[in-house]
Amino acid sequence: MNFSNKARELIRKQIIEWDLAAKNYGSLGKVKIKTFDFGDYHIDVQFNPERIVSSAAKVDALSIEKRPCFLCQNNLPPQQRGLPIDDQYMVLVNPFPIFPEHLTIPNVLHTDQRIIGNFESMLNLAARLDDFIIFYNGPKCGASAPDHLHFQAGNKGFLPIENDFTNEKCCRKVRSVGGVTISHWQDYQRGIITLNSSDKIGLIDCFNTVYNKLQKIQPGETEPMLNILASFDNGEWIIHIIPRILHRPTQYFGTGDKQIILSPASVDMGGVVITPREEDFIKISEEDVRDIFRQVCFEPKALLTMINEL
Ligand SMILES: [Zn+2]
Repeated sequence: MNFSNKARELIRKQIIEWDLAAKNYGSLGKVKIKTFDFGDYHIDVQFNPERIVSSAAKVDALSIEKRPCFLCQNNLPPQQRGLPIDDQYMVLVNPFPIFPEHLTIPNVLHTDQRIIGNFESMLNLAARLDDFIIFYNGPKCGASAPDHLHFQAGNKGFLPIENDFTNEKCCRKVRSVGGVTISHWQDYQRGIITLNSSDKIGLIDCFNTVYNKLQKIQPGETEPMLNILASFDNGEWIIHIIPRILHRPTQYFGTGDKQIILSPASVDMGGVVITPREEDFIKISEEDVRDIFRQVCFEPKALLTMINEL
C-alpha cells in the first residue's frame, strides 16, 4: 500500500475509534463556505468553529512554556495513533480539520519549529504523501506549536492555488536557475515565489538562496516569516513560498464590530480563508480579504525584484 493510502486508512480508523476526531470530521460536512470571485481566481471563506483553538492560540514564549506540548508523544491523547514516516516524523490525524483529510506531522523530538535544515524533510514528505499538499507555518506565521517542529498535510484538490498555478493569468514562469523554474504571481493579492523542479538538490539550493535573501530583510527574526506549501506531481515538486511581514492583521486585535478573528497561515495563503466565528464569516467582505493580505504579505512587485536577483 502506498503511503498516501496508509494515511487515509489511519484517518478512517481514527474517526471510528476517537470521539473527538469523529465529532470534528463529522461537522466538517456542515461547515459553511462562501466564495469571493476575483476574476481570474477565487478565494473561499470557510466558517469552521473548531479552528478557534488554532486561530486564537497564544504563541508567546510564556504561554508556550506553561502548557504541555500537544505534539510530544507523551502528551498525545490516549486514542491518538501515529504512523511513523522517514524515521524522524510521525503522521497523526489532525483532530481539528480544515481539509476532508487533514494530517499533522510532528518530528519525534521536541525541537523548535524551523525550516532551515528541515526543508529536505518537507520535500521527502511531499514525495511520499503524494496525494497530499504538505505545508509549513513559521513560528510566527500560524504554527500553534512554535516550540515543536511539525508540518501539516491536506488532501490535494482542495486549495484554489493548485489550479491557479496552471493559470498563466495568475502565475507566470519568470526564470530558470540551476534546473529550477521560478514563477511569480502578479495580481494575486499575495506575493508568492513558486519553485518547481524534479531536482531535489537544485530545489534545496534555490530555497536556501531565497531564505537568505528574506533573512537579510528581517534580520531581527529567528527565521524570516513565511508559509510554505509543497506538493509532488509526476516526478516534480511544486513549492510555493509565501514570505510574510506580519503575523496577525489589525482586524484580529479590533474590538466590537471592527474585530475579525482571522489568523492567516498556509491554508489561507492557498486560498481558503478560515473564520472560526460565524459573525466574522457573515460580515467579512472582499475588501477585508484584500486588506488582510495586504497587511500580512509582501507586495508581488517586491518579490519579482527578488526573483530577478536570484
Ligand atoms: Zn513537543
